[in-house]
Amino acid sequence: MPTDPNCIFCKIVAGQIPSHKVYEDDIVLAFLDIGPVVKGHTLVIPKAHHATVMEIPPEVLGAVCQRIPKIARAVLAVTGAKACHVLANNGEEAMQSVAHLHYHIMPRASGDGF
Ligand code: AMP
Ligand code: ZN
Repeated sequence: MPTDPNCIFCKIVAGQIPSHKVYEDDIVLAFLDIGPVVKGHTLVIPKAHHATVMEIPPEVLGAVCQRIPKIARAVLAVTGAKACHVLANNGEEAMQSVAHLHYHIMPRASGDGF
């Protein structure tokens, strides 16, 4: 499995730095964003290090995306939200700050101030 010793998300996968896990299996990890823009802001990542959707093998991206509906439903269930953003920034110019592909799940509710 590709990994990058300098990547903060690879360190989370390896358990070298802590995270609040939301979901985990052999391919995917989901955990709470350390700087949530809304309550329940969750990140979904492949455990393997791939920087962006331009580089990740399609079958790995497919496996990540297959898990997103279940994780999104769980995040909405615990936050009480009825809607969410699901998005990935790909590349610095697109505001990606951690170069390990991640999908943001951001629950939304009317009047949440976001
Ligand atoms: P992006 O700007 O799309 O690359 O998003 C990176 C996200 O990773 C930001 O929302 C950060 O708050 C989040 N983040 C950075 N470091 C950590 C960490 N150690 N644990 C959880 N989330 C993190
Ligand atoms: Zn990584």
